[in-house]
Amino acid sequence: MVDMAEVMKKFDIHEIANNELAEIEKTVDAELVARYKDKRGKKIFPVIYAARDNVCGACNMELPKSVLSRLKGGEVIECDQCGRLLYIAK
Ligand SMILES: [Zn+2]
Repeated sequence: MVDMAEVMKKFDIHEIANNELAEIEKTVDAELVARYKDKRGKKIFPVIYAARDNVCGACNMELPKSVLSRLKGGEVIECDQCGRLLYIAK
C-alpha cells in the first residue's frame, strides 16, 4: 500500500513551484495531482493538511468516523468545511 504520509510530504504545505509540481507528477497518483491543482486554482493555501486526532488540522472541523477510517486506510479526503485535502500523519 502507498504510504500517504510519505507521498504527502512531497507536496509542501506551502505553494509548490510549477517545476517542482512537474517532478511530483511523475511519482504521485495523477488523480491526486489533479485534485491538488484544482484546489490551488481556487486559491486554497495550504492545499494539503494533516488531520489531527479526529479534526481537520486546518479548520478544526470534527471529522466523521467514516472519514477517519478512510483516512486511516491511506485515502486522501477533502474537508467538507474548508475544502482542503486531508491525510493522516502516521
Ligand atoms: Zn477543514
